Amino acid sequence: MSNRRYKIAVLPGDGIGVEIMGVTLEVLEKLGQLCDIDFLFSEALIGGAAIDQTGHPLPPETLELCRYSDAVLLGAVGGYQWDELPSHLRPEQALLGLRSGLNLFANLRPATVFPELIHASSLKPEVITGVDLLVVRELTGGIYFGQPKGIFTSETGEQRGVNTMAYLASEIDRIGRVAFAAAQQRRKKLCSVDKANVLEVSQLWRQRMNALAPEYPDVTLTHLYVDNAAMQLIRWPQQFDVIVTGNLFGDILSDEAAMLTGSIGMLPSASLGATAPGVFEPVHGSAPDIAGQDVANPLAQILSAAMMLRYGLSEPQAAARLEYAVAEVLRQGYRTGDIYTEGMQRLGCKAMGAQVAAALA
Ligand code: NAD
Repeated sequence: MSNRRYKIAVLPGDGIGVEIMGVTLEVLEKLGQLCDIDFLFSEALIGGAAIDQTGHPLPPETLELCRYSDAVLLGAVGGYQWDELPSHLRPEQALLGLRSGLNLFANLRPATVFPELIHASSLKPEVITGVDLLVVRELTGGIYFGQPKGIFTSETGEQRGVNTMAYLASEIDRIGRVAFAAAQQRRKKLCSVDKANVLEVSQLWRQRMNALAPEYPDVTLTHLYVDNAAMQLIRWPQQFDVIVTGNLFGDILSDEAAMLTGSIGMLPSASLGATAPGVFEPVHGSAPDIAGQDVANPLAQILSAAMMLRYGLSEPQAAARLEYAVAEVLRQGYRTGDIYTEGMQRLGCKAMGAQVAAALA
């Protein structure tokens, strides 16, 4: 028995979630043997599968299991058969429940362009070659949660829609620390994105980021206004290492950054809390159109497991080994249908997982 043992809550969910999770657990078993790590997997219901069996998208026992685990590996939720349910019973509610139940305040979305998949991007190869960046988005504050919010009647009797963008200094500091620490593990460059030329909340954001910087002397901190950041991301994305920003700007910029790569089946993510375990999941959904056909690309789920190792379990070497294996199968010319190009070897979901497991050695 290894002295590195981790309890992993496994939530496959719906659609292709089940297939890509099965493949990922096999890859992790192999990695565990090679790196002397014991993974103790406990599976629980979430999303539509949980609705069908318990009537609730996030049963209390699932949340409980997550709370007492070292990390949560999540597949995807949703599907046509649950689309007509009232919104509080929809599968996607489970994701919000996990976020609030585990107090996940930091969302990490890497955008890595693999040289073999450059054609998948809508941008020119010279613009995206070598892109390897990470967007750190604040997830529980900002304009989506600030008060007052609502549609009110103004003094003139006209309707008035209101949202409030507000951040406490402590909320800025904790997301800032996640981003500085992530930059320390990477190329040590952090770009903070705000709108400090117009918004007071952004002026506080910038002050707090500057105040944190001396704690991380090895990291170079820069600032960009969000409109410029949106332009720079498609003009010269190689300039970025880690980007940190608030909830609204991060929502938009993380999707923009994801599209630099062009392949949704390759994108992992991590959501981290202060004390509770993090949740690691692919960016894509449950893809009901291809579910059950063994054609889904499992690499986003496998790369999410690599993020779990790096950011959730502090096992950077095992994470790097897994990421290397994914890059290696691409180099060897193996492709699932979504990233297939002529001359490559087309594989199904399971066979792709088997190649990653083989490449680990
Ligand atoms: P989707 O990401 O599931 O699929 C979009 C398209 O990309 C589809 O054509 C799909 O076949 C393809 N695709 C996605 N992942 C793939 C993979 N790994 N390999 C190959 N092809 C892949 O988005 P959608 O179709 O808009 O949503 C489907 C369901 O998923 C909905 O119920 C939606 O609410 C839900 N959803 C869940 C999450 C989540 O669990 N985090 C995220 C987004 C959507």
